[in-house]
Formats: sequence, structure tokens, C-alpha cells
Amino acid sequence: MLILGLETSCDETGVALYDTSRGLLAHALFSQVDIHVEYGGVVPELASRDHIRKALPLLEEVLTKAGCTAADIEGVAYTAGPGLVGALMVGATLARALAWGWGVPALGVHHMEGHLLAPMLEEERPDFPFVALLVSGGHTQLVRVDGIGQYRLLGESLDDAAGEAFDKAAKMLGLPYPGGPHIARLAESGDPERFNFPRPMVNRPGLDFSFSGLKTYTLNTVTDCKANGELSEQDKCDIARAFEEAVVATLVIKCRRALKQEGLKTLVMAGGVSANRNLRASLERALSKEKAKVFYPAPEFCTDNGAMIAYAGAQRLAAGQRDGEASAVRPRWPMAELPPLSAGLAT
Ligand code: ATP
Ligand code: MG
Ligand code: FE
Repeated sequence: MLILGLETSCDETGVALYDTSRGLLAHALFSQVDIHVEYGGVVPELASRDHIRKALPLLEEVLTKAGCTAADIEGVAYTAGPGLVGALMVGATLARALAWGWGVPALGVHHMEGHLLAPMLEEERPDFPFVALLVSGGHTQLVRVDGIGQYRLLGESLDDAAGEAFDKAAKMLGLPYPGGPHIARLAESGDPERFNFPRPMVNRPGLDFSFSGLKTYTLNTVTDCKANGELSEQDKCDIARAFEEAVVATLVIKCRRALKQEGLKTLVMAGGVSANRNLRASLERALSKEKAKVFYPAPEFCTDNGAMIAYAGAQRLAAGQRDGEASAVRPRWPMAELPPLSAGLAT
């Protein structure tokens, strides 16, 4: 079954074609980073307007890349939430109109289910059940996954998401938005011995996270360094290093704890922060000692993309799920509300 996937929940327009027998045929992405950079964050109205401009040209692009025509498409999946309401509405309206015109089913997909299933686009796939660490710009969650749509929330951030914390720390260091990749780059030249940032919540039992204290600690460190004048390049690298180490250490500790609690040996990590190389290496190191294994998407499928939506939608559409006549986008949408998929993977 050939599925078109459309992602427009935030500031990336992602379009992809996934076929349940042939795999990912083509994908294309336009990131609006340059549009929002001067505001230091995403401006919702500008995001919606740009999705309108980019979606159809990207669709043409993936059809050409895949050597397909619109007549080959057998279903349309789009991100129905969570996300920015206007941006979601652009994708939903377009996807449903296209599906209606082509006489094929449409289905609204949960953005975080898309992230969670993105590792399934890789050659080597995890088997259910597993623990998933979702670490993105808006979410930090540990989820027990027994199958598609069988999700139990084990813990989550009580305040900022990990990606959001990266972005805010980056702003304090004068780095552009989104700051995660910039912090990661500076951290490589940072001295790990100079600062020791706190590891939030690790001494408390449970699987919740909190990153707001770390943010304050970062701000205080920046202020202390500035007492001697402007931040030097080395100051920035050292702070980035200490910040990244603290986030990574916290995430690793909670992942190990979650696997132990659930008696599982498979961890899946997804979302923008899962692109972080230090996090990947630290998790691999920690889990290999316990004979556990970690899976994550290719870097381009860690952040928002159309392929993950096409994949998640393909699984559900192949199992017969469809939108109702009246369908709405859901800016907030707990993943535990998703219906389970009784059939196995459509692959
Ligand atoms: P959500 O998926 O929760 O709705 P989102 O879609 O905005 O949020 P993603 O696109 O999954 O989030 O990820 C973007 C986030 O990932 C940003 O906060 C960005 O700073 C962070 N990020 C990207 N690459 C890295 C990296 N290498 N290291 C750390 N953080 C990173
Ligand atoms: Mg984004
Ligand atoms: Fe996302």
C-alpha cells in the first residue's frame, strides 16, 4: 500500500512516500529555521503560511523522486496533533482534500507516534515490547510500548522538555535557534572538568524529569563568567559541555531505571534530541554493560520529517483505520488515547 505522509505540526514541512512492501520511496523536507531565526523561536502565523507555500511543491518533488504519479497513491496520512493549531490545519486540510479528490482514505496521525516509530524506517528494527525515550522540542517521555497504539506513560518532564532546555541554554550562550545542534558542536571542545552541573531528579525515585533547575544553573554560571567581561569562546564551550553532560547523564540514568522496572532489554530513542551523538554513545555504553540494546532513527529522521508520518499512517491505514467525516486537529493529544493496532506490522 503506497501512502503519502504530510508533516506540518511546527516549523518543518515534511512530505514522504512510504510503501508497505517496498519501504520508503522518497522524502523531502523544508525547514523554516531561517524564517523564524530573527524572532528566536517559531512564530505560529508565519509557520502556517509557509506550510501552504511549500507543501505542494514538496509533493511534486517526492513524486518525481519516487517515479510515481498521484494515481499510485492509496492513502494519505497527515499529522493531526499535537502541535501548532494553524500549522496542523494546513496539513490536515490539504491531506483530506487530496485524499477526497483521489478517492483514497485519509488518516490523522499522532506526531509523537510518528517520532516513536521512526526507528522502524531503519534496516535493523526493534521488536516489541520495548521502552521508548521520546526526547524532542516539546516532549521528554518514557513510554512502555507493547505494540502500535499500546502505550503506557512511565514518566515525563514536569517542566521543560529536554530539547527546549537545549534551546534555552543555547540562547543564554548567544547561539541561534534551534540550539541543540549548536550546543552539541561547542560541547565537543569543552573541558568536562571545569564545571559540574547538577543531575536533576536522579536521586528521587520514579521516572519523571525536570530540566528547569538546570536552566537556572546554566544562567547563573553564565552570569558568573560574565562578571569577568564577555563570555569567551572557551567559556561557551565549557558551559555547553557541562550542560550536555548533565542532560545526557540524567537521561541515561532514567532509561536504565525504566528498563529495569519493566524487565526489558530494548530501548528505542526518538525525537530531535536523539540525534545528539554524546547521548547515543553514552546510552550505548551504559546499556551494553547490561546486555540491553538501543535503537534510534537516522539523524535526518530524529527531527520532524514526513517519512515518520507516512510510516505510522501506513501501519494504521493498512489495518483499515480511517478518518471519520468530521475530523479535527488536536493541538494537545495524549498518546495513551490512541487506539491499539491488533494486526502485526504491515512492514
Ligand atoms: P515535538 O516533537 O515534541 O512536538 P519538535 O517537533 O519541535 O517537538 P523535534 O523536531 O523532534 O521537536 O526536535 C527539535 C529539538 O531537537 C530542538 O529542541 C533541537 O534543539 C533539538 N535537537 C536537534 N538536534 C540536537 C542535537 N544534536 N543535540 C541536542 N538537541 C538537538
Ligand atoms: Mg522543528
Ligand atoms: Fe517533533
